[in-house]
This record gives sequence, structure tokens and C-alpha cells, in this order.
Amino acid sequence: MQDFSDKAIILRVGRFREADLWLRMFTPQHGLLTAFAFGGSRSRKRFLGCLDPFNLVHFGFSRSRSGTYLSLTEGTLLDGHRGLRNAPARLGPAANCMKFFEAVHVEPETSAAGFSLLRDTLDAIEHCETLSPIFPILFRLRVAFEQGYGPCLGTCSQCGKDLKTSVAPSLLVEAGCMICEDCSPGSGRRIAMSRGAVAVLEQVRTEAPLTWGSLSPQGADRRSLYDAADSFVRWHLGLKWEDGRFLRI
Ligand SMILES: [Zn+2]
Repeated sequence: MQDFSDKAIILRVGRFREADLWLRMFTPQHGLLTAFAFGGSRSRKRFLGCLDPFNLVHFGFSRSRSGTYLSLTEGTLLDGHRGLRNAPARLGPAANCMKFFEAVHVEPETSAAGFSLLRDTLDAIEHCETLSPIFPILFRLRVAFEQGYGPCLGTCSQCGKDLKTSVAPSLLVEAGCMICEDCSPGSGRRIAMSRGAVAVLEQVRTEAPLTWGSLSPQGADRRSLYDAADSFVRWHLGLKWEDGRFLRI
């Protein structure tokens, strides 16, 4: 018996008995879910082509009698991202974005927006003509921004100066805001950003992932964006990247 249905993007798949699989997935209405596909590795009929990471699937879900776990009743594949699977160089960035997304605690009220971002991100990695070499970094920044930590990038948070006229703007990590060179940063962490790096941040904050493909900042700009992403993710989302995975700090 089916209790509810929802779209899902599959983040991870594991086997727990010979024929049974568990799936970690993200859904627009129920956020992050784990569900079992009993007999999933044998009976592919109910789940034809569905049970692989990156897939966008419409699943039926059933709650166990005790309410302690979910099982999948059936699935309809909506997008198997075949182009992504045929591009080995893009699988790494896609997997990195999914690992990060799984580690972030997405608030329930933002799960629909989070789902859209994840779907648009996979579409972008699959379809961008060129893929930005720092795409996963841009994705982390966007997720942090969408969780409510996005700085206002147009003006200095202290004096209101238009940062397009600022020669040395900075990002204040803890406060999550920008200041110009004339204002005092106070005691928190400050990252110097060029106007080019600020323009990248602005594009990542406001435009769809499909437009990020050609963003390829070099040198100091790239380092400051790495630094901004790492600092924001540590301070605001409580995560760090270590040994190939994201850990709670
Ligand atoms: Zn200022």
C-alpha cells in the first residue's frame, strides 16, 4: 500500500541484503529520505532503470507498520542523466555536489527550493558546453546563500558605498556581509575580494547553475572564492571537507 509519492533525486545507493537496496534521496516535499527497495536488485520490473545515483525518479513510498522505515513501492524514471554518465570527467564534480548537499542540513521549508537547485545543478553539469573547473565550489557558495547566509554584494554594509566603485572590497565571513576599503572590518574573519571575484559571487547568487559553466576565475580570484566557500561552509553550515567527505565540525 502506498502512503505517499514524491519526486526524488537519488544521492546514494547501497545493498544491505543479497537482493535488497537502500537509497538516500532528496525530495521536494519531504526533504532528505532513506528508503528501502526490497528485492530492488533482482526485480527491476517495479523500478525499471530507476535505482542509480543521479537519477530523477517519481517514487511511491510506503511506511512500515511500526512507522520506523520507508520502503519504495514503485518508481518511474523521469531523467537518467545519460549524458552525464557518458562524460566521466563530469561524474566527479556531480558526485562532489551531491555529497555536499547530503551533508548540509536543509531546513524543511527550503526543501522545494533545494530540490530545484539540485536538479538544475545536475542538468547544468550534464549540459554546460564547458564545465567550470570550480563548479563544486560555486555550488557550495550557492547552497550557503540559499540557506540564508547570502551577503548583499552591491553595497558596503557599513557606509552604503556602491562596491562597483570600491578598489578593495572584502567579505566578512561571520557577519556574512561586504565592506569597502574605507570601513573597519572589526575582529571577524575578512577575505579580500577583487571586483572580478565579487562579480562571480553575484552571478552564483542570482543566476541559474546553467550560466556558471564558463566561470573560470584565475589566480587570486580563484583562491579568494575557494577561501570564501570554505569559510562560509565551515562557519555557517558547520561542515568541513576531509578525506573525501564532508564532516560536521
Ligand atoms: Zn564602507
